[in-house]
Amino acid sequence: MIIVLKPDCTEAQLKHVTDSIQEMGFRYEISKGQHRTLVGVIGDEDKLRNAPLKAIPGVEEVMGVLKPYKLASKEFRQQPSIFDLGHGVKIGGGHLILIAGPCAIEGAEILRDIAVKVKAAGANVLRGGAFKPRTSPYSFQGMGEDGLKLLREVGDELQMPIVTEVMDPRQVELVDKYTDMHQIGARNMQNFNLLSEVGQTRKPVLLKRGMSATVEDLLMSAEYILASGNQQVILCERGIRSFDKSTRNLLDLSIVPNLHGLSHLPVVVDPSHATGRPDLIPSMSLAGIAAGADGIHIEVHSCPEKAASDGPQALLPPQYAELVKQMRAIATLMGKTIDPLPA
Ligand code: PEP
Ligand code: MN
Repeated sequence: MIIVLKPDCTEAQLKHVTDSIQEMGFRYEISKGQHRTLVGVIGDEDKLRNAPLKAIPGVEEVMGVLKPYKLASKEFRQQPSIFDLGHGVKIGGGHLILIAGPCAIEGAEILRDIAVKVKAAGANVLRGGAFKPRTSPYSFQGMGEDGLKLLREVGDELQMPIVTEVMDPRQVELVDKYTDMHQIGARNMQNFNLLSEVGQTRKPVLLKRGMSATVEDLLMSAEYILASGNQQVILCERGIRSFDKSTRNLLDLSIVPNLHGLSHLPVVVDPSHATGRPDLIPSMSLAGIAAGADGIHIEVHSCPEKAASDGPQALLPPQYAELVKQMRAIATLMGKTIDPLPA
């Protein structure tokens, strides 16, 4: 349910509204818009239908949200959400992030080398996996906490916020100690225990679309995180399974304006995992920005043939630098806020 407050509702009345909601056994999230304040009420749908919410002073209207996702919906928040990732980097509402780095953290020297190069090219978020979701149990599984420490160190050195994947609810506390943003991988998009666990943290969550997930499935997974109390969810399109084997996955670019029409949450496009092909990544990155994406996520490696994972889809640093120039030009056309390139 969404409660629309009266335009002259005072802070004291708002407090009374939220106290009453809690007394009734529900939880709430407040959305302060330009003209109106909304309160999203979360709880058992049947009980909510019969709750006397309209009788609380200061309440103008109580609306049922038809969509199964409530807090993620545009009805709850009309304005695009903007999140701060640290080091002055923002996403959403015209702020564009460029996430780049290796698939996996492999060692201090190679990580630093790649990070320095992507930062110089204009990337503003550094990625790297310390826990890797590999198809084969015999493949490299990641450096674990040692990798997290390296990523944190290099991110701090270069003043870049970092993002890394968390695969298991038992790892959330550990990863949260190091990262600026949690990544939920495609294979874990419907790991509801994991979603609730990152929902307990206060770091932004990059939620990747599952390979067979519908738009509604993705938004329902976002809802799990939001309903657990973490309001900073970023949706990520990384390709879905198709019958065609010419690309690794099928990049669904229409999901960008589709999601923007349904939700206030920012949307990132990951053409690396979507196409798996360095020859297609540049055009799909530019198309992603033209479609309105709030961020582009690209794997970069200075020696792809030696990469521990996803080497064949990595861009080389000079290719990435060239692409950033083009992305910045399209982003400017799209009216995005672009930070100056490092001196
Ligand atoms: C990754 O970002 O390295 C990754 C494994 O992504 P996905 O979950 O989209 O496959
Ligand atoms: Mn990868």
